[in-house]
Formats: sequence, C-alpha cells, structure tokens
Amino acid sequence: MEQELHNTSQGGTSQGGLLGQLHASLLSGAIKVVDLTFPLSPDFPVIVLPPEFGQCAPFRRETVSRYDADGPAWYWNNISMNEHTGTHFDAPAHWITGRDIPCGTVDAIDPARFLAPAVVMDFSAEAAANADFILTADHIRDWEAKNGQIPPKHWVFFRTDWSKRAGTPSYLNLHEDGTHSPGPDASAMEFLVHERDAVGFGVETVGTDAGQASHFDPPLPAHAIMHGNGRFGLQCMCNLDQLPAFGAMIVATPLKIEAGSGSPLRVIALVE
Ligand code: MN
Repeated sequence: MEQELHNTSQGGTSQGGLLGQLHASLLSGAIKVVDLTFPLSPDFPVIVLPPEFGQCAPFRRETVSRYDADGPAWYWNNISMNEHTGTHFDAPAHWITGRDIPCGTVDAIDPARFLAPAVVMDFSAEAAANADFILTADHIRDWEAKNGQIPPKHWVFFRTDWSKRAGTPSYLNLHEDGTHSPGPDASAMEFLVHERDAVGFGVETVGTDAGQASHFDPPLPAHAIMHGNGRFGLQCMCNLDQLPAFGAMIVATPLKIEAGSGSPLRVIALVE
C-alpha cells in the first residue's frame, strides 16, 4: 500500500513534503475526516430572538430545473438563508463590540486563520443534568487540571451533546421565558481570550451564548467578548463526541460574502 501511494504521488505535484505526507495519510486512513456539519435543510431550526427584533431566516430552496423542461440535462436550486443559518461561522463584525475590528468580515479575514487545531472540552454530563449549565473560568481551569492546558491559537469547542437533540423541540428548548441551553459566562470568555489566546469558541447549540444569556452581565458574553477581541464563533456543530480532547485540526472556511457577518459552512476535523 505504501509503495502504491508512493508511485501514485510521483506523477503529482504533492510528492514528499508536509502536504505529500498529509495526502498519503488521508489515503491510508491514518488521518480520518470527521464532519461536524448539519445538512442545510428548511426544517433545521434557527435562533429565535425576542419578537421586537428582526429574525433569522431558515434555509429555503426552490428548484430551478431538474432534468426537465426548465433544464433538460441539469439540476440546480436557488437557495436563500440568513448568514447565521445552520452550522455556521460568526465573524467579529457580527457583534457591535467587533464592528471596528480590522478585517472583521468574512471576506476580509486572513484565510490562514480558517485552519486551526481544536481543544474539545466535554461538558455533556453537566448539560444533560442542567439545560441552563453555565461554563465558567473555574470550570475550564478544573478541566485543564485533569486534561492539560489549552495551547494558544486553538479553537475551543464546548461539547454538550446538544446536537443529539436536533429534530426535537428540546434542541431550541424554547419556553415562555425564552430558550434554555448551555453556554459560557463572561469569566470563561475572558479566560479563553486573554489567558489562552483562543481562535474562537465553538458549540453545538444555535448560538455561542447560553439560551438565557441576554440576562447576563454583559449580555451575550460569548458574542460580546469573543468578537470584541477579533475572535470567531462556530455554532450548530455535531459529532464533537468523535473528536479527541486535543489534536483535531479544524478546517472552517466561511463563504466569502462581501462584508458578511458570518456564513453557513462545512466544518471538518482531521483526526489522527
Ligand atoms: Mn451566529
């Protein structure tokens, strides 16, 4: 098998070198690809804001042609959605705290920043026991004491297993007093930005903030602090339970929407 791969690569452009090793590792299965993305579907829920605010549109699709009179040999759809529909990326400009961050929109971010390793903190048991579980800096310090310190320039993913609720009302978990879902407080976000230099914060819920985070100080601390410091968010991810605590390489490249605040995207993880 190794010989075969070697021969195959000789005619290509990626023989040898780091990228050649990566290619060979993908072909051999030594590195596997884990998809952290939900399908874009009209049924997938979007975040619900209080009724006085504008609302996030779900994914919509209309078929232009499908091997029929409107296009006998081709299939394609017109699609529309909010920039924050489905599995998606939040750019710094999404939040007022990040509006003056240089290169804070999806089209302007240095694309090298779209590839970074992740640390995956498993708080699924806490989230199962309490839908309003709030991640604090002390929780992260305790996690690090057991698992190791979060290195700089890493995504920090908050595993809650919330993605397993998708397709049921308990995913949004909307009640009369708003949504109930886990998220961080300001201490956790300040710690990850200033003590750990995180690339961003990634979650399984529809927002990086807890369901009740509009009542926090500051309100919506993941948005306010991450984006105010030029960092990113990832939401509506799945399969975080397939990732190791350390070592997964994340590829998260938002669409290059001109002056866009975020975008749906395919998030993949490379895992040894
Ligand atoms: Mn968003």
